[in-house]
Amino acid sequence: MEDPAATTSKKAAKKAEAKAKKEAQKAERAAQLAAAAAKATLEDDPAADRYGDRPSTTGLFSDDAEEVEIPSLDESHIDKTVIVRAWLQNSRVQSAKMGFFELRKSGNWSVQGIVMASEQEPIVSRRMVKWVVGINPESFVAVEAKVKRPLEPIKACRVQGLELHITKCYVLASAPSMLGMTLAVANQPIVNFSDEKAPVSDVQPDKATVPAASMLTHLDNIAMHKRSPVQQAIADIRIEVKKLFRSYLEDRGFKEFEPPCLIGAASEGGGNVFRLPYFGEEAFLAQSPQFYKQFEIAGGRERVFSIGPVFRAENSNTARHMTEFTGLDIEMEIKQSYTEVRDVLEGVLLHIFRGIQDRCADAIATVKAVYPSEPFLLPEPGKEVRLTFAEAQKLLREEGPSEFANVRDDEDMSTPQEKALGEVVRSKFNTDFYVIDKFPETARPFYAKIDDTAATVGDGVRVTNAFDFFARNQEILSGGQRINDPVELEARIRAKGVDPESAGIKEYLAVFRSVGVPAHGGGGIGLDRVVAWYLGLPSVHLAAYYPRTPKRLSP
Ligand code: ATP
Repeated sequence: MEDPAATTSKKAAKKAEAKAKKEAQKAERAAQLAAAAAKATLEDDPAADRYGDRPSTTGLFSDDAEEVEIPSLDESHIDKTVIVRAWLQNSRVQSAKMGFFELRKSGNWSVQGIVMASEQEPIVSRRMVKWVVGINPESFVAVEAKVKRPLEPIKACRVQGLELHITKCYVLASAPSMLGMTLAVANQPIVNFSDEKAPVSDVQPDKATVPAASMLTHLDNIAMHKRSPVQQAIADIRIEVKKLFRSYLEDRGFKEFEPPCLIGAASEGGGNVFRLPYFGEEAFLAQSPQFYKQFEIAGGRERVFSIGPVFRAENSNTARHMTEFTGLDIEMEIKQSYTEVRDVLEGVLLHIFRGIQDRCADAIATVKAVYPSEPFLLPEPGKEVRLTFAEAQKLLREEGPSEFANVRDDEDMSTPQEKALGEVVRSKFNTDFYVIDKFPETARPFYAKIDDTAATVGDGVRVTNAFDFFARNQEILSGGQRINDPVELEARIRAKGVDPESAGIKEYLAVFRSVGVPAHGGGGIGLDRVVAWYLGLPSVHLAAYYPRTPKRLSP
C-alpha cells in the first residue's frame, strides 16, 4: 500500500511544479511584451539611430564631421560639426526637451554638452534627450555635435567659451550606475594615508562639501583615482621632471645606462634588501644603482645617469617612504674637485624646479586647487644656499627650537632636526631648496671620500666630501665623492665593520684593483620626493603611480 505521507508530498511537488511553470510563462510573456514595447518605441522614434549603446562608431557619424580632442577645441570650430570622444559627467535635466552634461578628457579638459529636442533635421527626440541625460557618469561616449558660442561663459568647464549641441550620442563603454568612488570625491584631498583598513567609513558625512576618501579607498578604485584631474596633473608634472633631468644631463655629455634590479648579493649591506628565490639560490632587489654607476665610470663611460626603480625593504610607514621608488642617479668623473659633482646636481635640480614652473603652470594650479601650499621658494641665481653640516648644526643650535640647542657636529641629523633646520633656512635665506655639505664620516657609507684637508668636528670625527640636498625641509638627494683608490677603499670598508671578502663587496673592490679608476662622484635623487615636495603634497605616495608600502602591494 502507498504511504499517505508520500502521496501528499508528491501532490505538493506537482502543484509547486505547475505553479513554477505558470510563473515562468508569465515572466516570458512579460519579457516579450517589454521587448516588443522597446522595439515599438525605437521604431517610432525618428531619432532612434542617433543614440544608444554601440560597440563601435563605424558608419555612425556624418562624413563632414571632424574628430576633435577637447583641448584642441577653439573658435575655428564654431558652427562646425565635430565628433568628440570623452567621459561623461554631471548630467542634469532642464526639462523634457533639454538636458546638460559635461564631457571630460585629458585631465581636467571639460566642455559643456547640450541635448535639445528638435523636430527639424537633425532630429533630436524627447526620448533621446531622456536617454542621454540618463547615461551613467564616467561612461565613455562618442558624440556628434555642432559647436556654438554659449550665451555666457561656462564657468564649470575648462572650455568656457564654446559648447557642444549634441545631435548624436553613443555609449561605447558603459560605467555601472554606482561608482566605487565618484570623480568629485576622487578629486578631493585624501584625508587619511594610513595603509591599514579603515575601521569606519572614511567619508565625512557632516561636511556640506563633497566628502573626501582615504588613500585606501583611492587605491581600491584605481581607475577613478587616476581619472581625477589632480592625479592626472601630478602624473604630467612627474613626466616633465624626468624629461628635464634627462635633457639637462644629455646636454652636458651624460650617457644613460640601465643598472640591474636583480643582484646576487646585498651589496651595500644592511637589512633593507628584498630577497627572492633564484633557481635554487637567493637573489636580491637592488637598493640603489650605486655600485653599477661606479662600474660605468671604471668602464670608461665618463658621465652617466640612470632612471629606474629602487627597492627598500624598510618597514617605514611614513609619508616619505615607499618600498619601491624611482631613482634619478648620476655619476661622473671629477677633474679638480668634488664640487663639480655638487654643481651639476644643484644645476639639474634648479633646472627641474624652474622648468616645471614654466612648463606646468596649469598642472601646478590644478594640484594647488586641491592641495594648497606655499609657493616653492628658489634661490636667486648666484645666491644658492650651501651650508656645511657644522654650519647647519650651529644654525639649528642658535636659531632653531630650544630642544635642538645641543645638536652635535659629529652625529647625523634626525628627521625633526631636518624639518626645524628647513624652517630656519627658509626664514633666513628665503629658499626651500638648499644643500648641506661635508657630512661627518659617521653619517656616510664606506665609499664616501673623506676630506683630509678639513678640520675634524666634535670628538675628532673627520668630514666627507658628501652632501644632501633638501626641498621643503626634507631630503631629496644624497651624493658626494666616492673613494677610487682600492687601498683606501678597503681600509674604509674595514673601518665600517664590513668584511672586504663578503659577497658583493669582494667583487666591488676587485673592480678598483682591476684598472685605474679616475676620481669620481655622483648622487641619487628620489623622483617621487622631488615631485611631492615641490608641490607640497602631504605624502610621497601621491606622486607615485602605484605606491608600494610595507602594507600594500596592489593594485
Ligand atoms: P631617508 O633617510 O629619508 O630614509 P636615505 O638616506 O635612505 O633616505 P638615500 O639612500 O640616500 O636615502 O637615497 C637617495 C634618495 O632617494 C633620497 O634622498 C630620497 O630622495 C630617495 N629615497 C630614499 N629612500 C626612499 C624611500 N623609501 N621612498 C622614497 N624615496 C626614497
